[in-house]
Amino acid sequence: MIYCVEDEQNICELEVYTLQSVGMEAKGCGSGRELFAELEKRVPKLIVLDIMLPDEDGVSILRRLRADKRYAAIPVIMATAKGSEFDKVKGLDSGADDYIAKPFGMLEMVARIKAVLRRCAAQSQLPAEDIIRVANLEVNSSEHKVSVDGQEVVLTLKEYELLKKFLLHPGIVFSRDKLLNDIWGYEFSGETRTVDVHIRTLRQKLGSAGDLVETIRGVGYRMAAEK
Ligand code: CA
Repeated sequence: MIYCVEDEQNICELEVYTLQSVGMEAKGCGSGRELFAELEKRVPKLIVLDIMLPDEDGVSILRRLRADKRYAAIPVIMATAKGSEFDKVKGLDSGADDYIAKPFGMLEMVARIKAVLRRCAAQSQLPAEDIIRVANLEVNSSEHKVSVDGQEVVLTLKEYELLKKFLLHPGIVFSRDKLLNDIWGYEFSGETRTVDVHIRTLRQKLGSAGDLVETIRGVGYRMAAEK
């Protein structure tokens, strides 16, 4: 799911239509308020965010997204008019993943979205042959092997992916929705018990290293930064 935040209805519809025509799910939001209402229902893969919007502008919306643990990791492409506004916004380093100058062609938009999604997917992969150690836990990603105190622990694919996600981002809290989205590919909330069940079995299998996976009440889970 991709959310297109754009108050000009024609442009918004065109963006949504274009994305759907290349096989991506997309939904339009006319304002920040609408966006945040949609985010409550579903966390998207990416947001295309216009700057000039009624009520709250795109820069402010982006700041709010980045400040909210549930949404901080969503890639955002800012859409802005060419010229001084574009330069100013780019110079702000507001935390957008990419910028696109209006008016832009729909093919350009699709290409930018795909590039950002590819980049984000690449960043979430462990480098090959990497061995990560935290306390008595060791993950050898080239061999897909996990061990605790030198003893191999056999994990299911989902458990392994959860562990890898945490290890790659020590100290970062992941919401259940975010984990569902990234690891199961679900783009809706409401099945978060699945995450809890997998975390429980993951902890059990990790034995003495199990409490490295911490519960952050009301938010989600994270890997202890250092023990
Ligand atoms: Ca606008």
